[in-house]
Amino acid sequence: MSTQNLRHLPSVEKVLTALGELDSPPRPTVVALVRDHVENMREELLAGAAPLPFGQAVERIRETILAFARQRIQPVINGTGIMIHTNLGRSPIQKGVMDAVSAVAGGYSNLELDLNTGERGSRGAFLERNLATLCKAEAATVVNNCASALVLILRELANGERNEVIIGRNQLVEIGGGFRVPEIMETSGARLREVGATNKVSVDDYRNAISEKTAMILRVHRSNFYMEGFVEEPTTAELVALAREFGLPIVEDLGSGAMVATDQLAPLDHEPTTAEVLADDVDLVCVSGDKLFGGPQAGIIAGKRELIATLKKNPFFRALRCDKMVLTALQESACAYLDASHSGATPDLPLIAMLTADRYLLKERAAKIIEATGNHPSIRCGDGTARCGGGTMPKSEIPSVTIDIAPMAEQSSLPQLMKKLRDGTPPVIGYVTENVLKLDLRTIPTELDSVLSDALKDALN
Ligand SMILES: *Cc1c(COP(=O)(O)O)cnc(C)c1O
Repeated sequence: MSTQNLRHLPSVEKVLTALGELDSPPRPTVVALVRDHVENMREELLAGAAPLPFGQAVERIRETILAFARQRIQPVINGTGIMIHTNLGRSPIQKGVMDAVSAVAGGYSNLELDLNTGERGSRGAFLERNLATLCKAEAATVVNNCASALVLILRELANGERNEVIIGRNQLVEIGGGFRVPEIMETSGARLREVGATNKVSVDDYRNAISEKTAMILRVHRSNFYMEGFVEEPTTAELVALAREFGLPIVEDLGSGAMVATDQLAPLDHEPTTAEVLADDVDLVCVSGDKLFGGPQAGIIAGKRELIATLKKNPFFRALRCDKMVLTALQESACAYLDASHSGATPDLPLIAMLTADRYLLKERAAKIIEATGNHPSIRCGDGTARCGGGTMPKSEIPSVTIDIAPMAEQSSLPQLMKKLRDGTPPVIGYVTENVLKLDLRTIPTELDSVLSDALKDALN
């Protein structure tokens, strides 16, 4: 123990004065962080560490506070070309939708008031009817996300003596962010009854697993990977026929939530829509609100009226209910889809604008952005490949246009340049291939072009 060393321990007040005013985080948090730091320094000094000069200690503390401040959730420029990027908040939400959210959330609303009678009303009744229309379902409802939709369905349909859920071994998938179908099923109290092999599952595999303990058949969409080669599996229609034969419910976790034919928008695979799955007479289908649907984080459940009604009566439903902001955002997004389909147009949602953006126009934007940087010698226009991301259509690649930055050796290294761009306001996120930093314009909205050229100038000069 070298208590002697403690002479060199700066006081919290002295450090705070030396730090001066910081824009973020709020002062009480700065004070708490400095206290933690000084406490750590005390322990290090007691353990015999060499004392740091005061100025150096302050600079070290300043860096950790600034690094902490950068964790504040804020807008970033997504130059990755990945449209539904889970690390970057998945789907952007349409501006008009956000205006409606802001109006509802910033004041009072008829969330649970029936304006026709003046009595208590049902939360989301308007939304549910519109979602059902959009999904071509008898009924629909909404919970926090697709994972909780699946848990709710399993808790309601698979419990007690009949709690076995039959699922093909080719669908025991991990969706990302630690969402593993087998684990989710276990937390709900359901028992997994796996059938078939990883690559081959037949209708008879399902049939042979049915017993008096069977609660339901579950299909999980392989959204984030694909299988090729010696593979075989029953069609949805075949499994529906089997479920009917035994009077069992059949549910599909579809995940990605495409509401329009993706293959007609862009050179993409066809992602099954909720309407298609329900046309095969599946009882319930659940999807995410913030993937291809292009809305807020939510889990949309659509299907048979009776089943939706029982789900809504489950006590657990209350624990998963969405707030007014999410419900409003979903409501306005669903209406945008329905209005567009009525007039034969593509819905005006940011995700769809990105998917359909014309490459020629992206090239023009690239030229203007580069010109605005003063035709910086390190910057060129390049080709790129955009992707859906968010665990959807992993095979689909959309040809795109990039701003390519190859810093000259004496300027800075690529990792340094990326850090500089991340440190800017707003932060800019790109990707590296073959020693070039690429910023894909497909995922960058046009109105940010001048912000982007300014960020590039700042980072390169
Ligand atoms: C993404 C996905 C989920 C998880 O959805 P969240 O809304 O993030 O909970 C579940 N199932 C499938 C098939 C998915 O693709």
